[in-house]
Amino acid sequence: MSVGWQSTRGGGSGGAGGSGEAGGSSPGYARLGIPPRLALAEPRSADPWLPRASDAPCGDPPASPDPPAPPDPRGDPPAPPASNDRAIIRLDHVSRVYQVGESEVRALDDVSLDLAPGEFAAIMGPSGSGKSTMLNVLGCLDTPTSGSYVLDGEPVEKLSEDQLAEVRQRKIGFIFQAYHLVGRMTAARNVELPLIFAGVESRVRRDRVRAALEAVGLTKRMTHRPDQLSGGERQRVAIARAMVMEPRILLADEPTGNLDTKSGEEIVALLERLNAVGLTLVLVTHDPGVGAHARRVLRMRDGRIVEA
Ligand code: ADP
Repeated sequence: MSVGWQSTRGGGSGGAGGSGEAGGSSPGYARLGIPPRLALAEPRSADPWLPRASDAPCGDPPASPDPPAPPDPRGDPPAPPASNDRAIIRLDHVSRVYQVGESEVRALDDVSLDLAPGEFAAIMGPSGSGKSTMLNVLGCLDTPTSGSYVLDGEPVEKLSEDQLAEVRQRKIGFIFQAYHLVGRMTAARNVELPLIFAGVESRVRRDRVRAALEAVGLTKRMTHRPDQLSGGERQRVAIARAMVMEPRILLADEPTGNLDTKSGEEIVALLERLNAVGLTLVLVTHDPGVGAHARRVLRMRDGRIVEA
């Protein structure tokens, strides 16, 4: 398992302030606003929150210096261009149907969708249009009634509960409107929980927790419990917790819904920084101001994507 946060030099919690050594060696960190101490502590290959080699940012041209060969008039016709083979999320005719008494509710109705690595998509639409169902399916919290879902190259629609839990742990971070932090635990402990569940050893956990909280600007609040934090700070803890396992995808359900405008803007700015270094970001929002930050808006109505 990749444990990018673990590589703080000396293996301690990295309490010493940053020296000038190699401080600018990790532009990804600089772009994230991560303090230089972490930037110098992490070799680029182990950087968390940075795209893996396979995750070229969406929209980049393929790294092929050669122009396409002209069709050979004597040979077979050229193969049609591949569909979006780089999709990290691919839904193919997915439906999620609930049986309510005698009637069926088609919460998702024949939805097909490709999202490339590094996309930032906002799911918008009226209440009841299927946004939460969509996020639950994307996050492997729910499974389609029909259709196929390929997540990062792996068909997931037929996996068992345990297998789905494993996929979630490896690939997906979640943040929610109501934060869902454990109230009696400190910020650090909340962020540590996914690492404990994943069996990461304690020394590594400590470094990664510190780095995650540092990345969201909360080192001074590590020992605070959620009720000692503002809403924006709680959501930042939740983001650190979502990111500490280095997921490839972050799913956010109304992440600014409980926040005042300024805190909401700070959270969106933080999410944008994560997306800018390659994280695939999908969020549900009612707020057009938040949706305007997304590079792609998926508008839903009656279980369908009516605009993408
Ligand atoms: P949104 O998030 O856009 O408000 P939802 O995905 O929650 O929409 O719901 C889409 C439709 O599916 C709604 O008609 C809702 O009533 C229905 N629905 C959602 N969850 C269930 C469920 N567990 N049982 C029955 N119907 C459901």
